[in-house]
Amino acid sequence: MSIGAPKTQIYSNDSDIRNNLLEEGMKYYSHWLSVEEGSFNESDIKLELLLKEVDYENNKLRIHDNLQNQDIEVIINNGSPVCITCKTDDCSHVGFAIGVQFKIN
Ligand SMILES: [Zn+2]
Repeated sequence: MSIGAPKTQIYSNDSDIRNNLLEEGMKYYSHWLSVEEGSFNESDIKLELLLKEVDYENNKLRIHDNLQNQDIEVIINNGSPVCITCKTDDCSHVGFAIGVQFKIN
């Protein structure tokens, strides 16, 4: 997958979820969200990914990946998230970003 390929309506319905990594990322997002909302303590649920920063000006999300122990940057390119770190639009970080976008919008 090349960065910048225009895509539309990638989260219009479930059939648009293209692979397990995206689904996994969305699951990681709901883990993070349940801790954020206080439904679970962070010690009760092991967070794989967590949202560190939303850069509205540059349409960027900074996500911390606990599995790789590094910060990941995802850019929202014309409404579609693209992972800068993995150079793809279908990794778990992109799935996480899709969840974040739902909340922002
Ligand atoms: Zn990634």
